[in-house]
Amino acid sequence: MAQEFVKSRENDNASAAKAQEIAVKALERIEELDLSPTPENFELWYKYFDGDAELVGAIDKFGDKVNEAVCDKVYRRFLQSSSHEDAIRKVSDELQQALAEIAGLFKSVKSATNEYGDTLDGASVKIQNANSLDDLSEVVSEMVQSTKKVVEYNKSLESQLSNSTQQMAELRQNLDTVRKEAMTDSLTGLSNRKAFDNYLELAMAEAAEQKSTLVLLMMDIDHFKKFNDTYGHLIGDQVLRLVARSLKDGIKGRDLAARYGGEEFAIILPDTNVQGGVSVGNALRRVVERKEVINRTTNENLGQITLSVGVTEFFGQGDTPEKMIARADEALYDAKQAGRNRVKAYDPAAV
Ligand code: GH3
Ligand code: MG
Ligand code: MG
Repeated sequence: MAQEFVKSRENDNASAAKAQEIAVKALERIEELDLSPTPENFELWYKYFDGDAELVGAIDKFGDKVNEAVCDKVYRRFLQSSSHEDAIRKVSDELQQALAEIAGLFKSVKSATNEYGDTLDGASVKIQNANSLDDLSEVVSEMVQSTKKVVEYNKSLESQLSNSTQQMAELRQNLDTVRKEAMTDSLTGLSNRKAFDNYLELAMAEAAEQKSTLVLLMMDIDHFKKFNDTYGHLIGDQVLRLVARSLKDGIKGRDLAARYGGEEFAIILPDTNVQGGVSVGNALRRVVERKEVINRTTNENLGQITLSVGVTEFFGQGDTPEKMIARADEALYDAKQAGRNRVKAYDPAAV
């Protein structure tokens, strides 16, 4: 019903019109399913109609049983990365306001349409009872007046709705940006610790559900303190970026590389067993080892950068992120003890 009021104006560009169309679909679905009109629900359904494949799959799995609880579950799994961050809260509040405005507009559209329907009903009664041409012409002129009024009203509603939905689409975009920033390590551009924690939990839940494999690699740059002390922190930072880029380039698909902290990195590899994890670890270690690290200002060769790596596989139901991290750390410690620049897998027999 509301569709006719939100047709894009001629001067709207295509993407704004598309964003608006998606926003309207999202709002309509929220109403259809009788969900509360929260920014979370709006964002979820916006992403759904925007065609986010993973999210569509997760929601469609529930068929016609999609309710508030399902939305909450899917939202938390896919979108609630760091909803407690102040910045996200702020954009989210703005989104809430825009939503309230739009809900009000939808109500206005409904009542304007009802009112006009009543006018038409009244006119048809008058036409049936008209006794003269004068009577008829009076009814027609009344109809012309109220049609004009409703057309004008609709025009103004249409433009208000268009502005609000556009504003809402922009806010959603902001939310995406803020969320992305909150999940990224600013020095290296890799996922940060928070993104890592979220993803590990998600990947473990998925591996448990699908009975698939999963490995975690913890890596630490060897003797990095000495490197920093010798060449300074700025060069040290460049090295961290170089290692980060090597890791990012060396993984693919659903793999995740994160800066775990300081000079430590973590890699999550879904659908990979411990042997696979060891070989990826070795491949990454070799890539980094072969990099020529040159000080660009002095052309001085700064020597080799090496990594020690600890690998552990997901142990299935009952395993926890904390336990996995502890096992990978233990294997990493073994790699350091054994002389560094090597990969070690966690060995349950050694415990
Ligand atoms: P090991 O081989 O045992 O890992 O020795 P290490 O020197 O790498 O380990 P240690 O934990 O003693 O020192 C880590 C150093 O990493 C300390 C600090 O100088 C450096 N570091 C940590 N974070 C950063 C950072 O953000 N930038 C720079 N430049 N250096 C960092
Ligand atoms: Mg360290
Ligand atoms: Mg180190």
